[in-house]
Amino acid sequence: MSEARSLYIHLPFCLHKCHYCDFVVRVLHRPSQIDRYLEHLMLDLQALSAFAAPLQTVYLGGGTPALLSVTQIQRLAEMLQQTFDLRQVQEWTLEANPEHLPEAELAAWMQLGVNRISLGVQTFDPLLLATCGRSHSPADIAQAVRLIQAHQLNLSLDLIYGLPDQSLQSWSESLTAALALQSDHLSLYALEVHPDTVFGHRNLPLPEDDETVAMYELACERLTQAGYQHYEIANWSQPGRPSRHNRVYWQNQPFLAAGVGAHGYFAGRRYAHAASLRAYYLDCQAGLWPWDAAEPQPLSEAIEETVFLGLRLLIEGLDLRAFERRFQRSLLACYPDVLPRLLKQGHLLLADGHLRLSPAAVPVSNGILAEFLEPVL
Ligand code: SF4
Repeated sequence: MSEARSLYIHLPFCLHKCHYCDFVVRVLHRPSQIDRYLEHLMLDLQALSAFAAPLQTVYLGGGTPALLSVTQIQRLAEMLQQTFDLRQVQEWTLEANPEHLPEAELAAWMQLGVNRISLGVQTFDPLLLATCGRSHSPADIAQAVRLIQAHQLNLSLDLIYGLPDQSLQSWSESLTAALALQSDHLSLYALEVHPDTVFGHRNLPLPEDDETVAMYELACERLTQAGYQHYEIANWSQPGRPSRHNRVYWQNQPFLAAGVGAHGYFAGRRYAHAASLRAYYLDCQAGLWPWDAAEPQPLSEAIEETVFLGLRLLIEGLDLRAFERRFQRSLLACYPDVLPRLLKQGHLLLADGHLRLSPAAVPVSNGILAEFLEPVL
């Protein structure tokens, strides 16, 4: 089986944990933690490579993968070059934080093939940065962006809205600052408060739901005016610069994932690596791979996910012919009541064989996507 053309690699170390973060993260105390991790990651990548076609996209996420030293980056490069065919990689993204992007390391990442940086900005408001437990300043953001753009790397900025005590004015100022940096891509996420985080243990003064919706609508308006294409519910890009790697997720296509807590999808199975480092290391040493134990995904679940994810693509939409080829049935056969009703209500639009959310439906998309649970089979 050699179908997956995308690879996600999770590098879980950070210098500290941000107050909202519920990713699989470990605080880095000494560089040897990364060396040990790479030893096990190598075993994982070797086993996974049996399922890989020549790769087209690679995504190094975390954690803070940019914490690796030049030597560690070279070691990772060697591993990847030995185990995968990287000659066709079009997009290679590295997640980084503004306070830690040393030039020597950046050069080593570029030598490996990195051509896109996803920068965790979150907000330009210094007080909110402190509230979030971030350790960068607005000046760090400007400096990191200068360095990335000087190397002509594709740049994406991540921002969060709906933060504690965040006003519409503060959000508007963050948007102004982000637009001034002329990044190729922007990902804007509404804050989610997870129980096992610092935020989850606090009584936070969060904006009301209608204020958070107003923040999203303001972003839609400002970014469109500035020439960005709103191509996915939470993502905007300059023309021709959408994320190729994330499109694989939204199209519900196969991808490989390596590293602690990483989730992958291939051969019709979803799998997840152990989320504890100890369990991950033991699995790697014993050659116990989660994809071997994963059950085939039920058809109804595969259909639901393909619709939920495909409708997130606002320009491209859900390709109905591709859906039919994949599932051997039409979308209408799967949703004989829901589909005509949502079309009639104007929440969905059908054109050129693609189904899309209508612009008015985008801010309330969660409720509309939830209608696609339980297809008729
Ligand atoms: S830098 Fe990113 S991954 Fe690390 S703790 Fe903060 S939000 Fe989580």
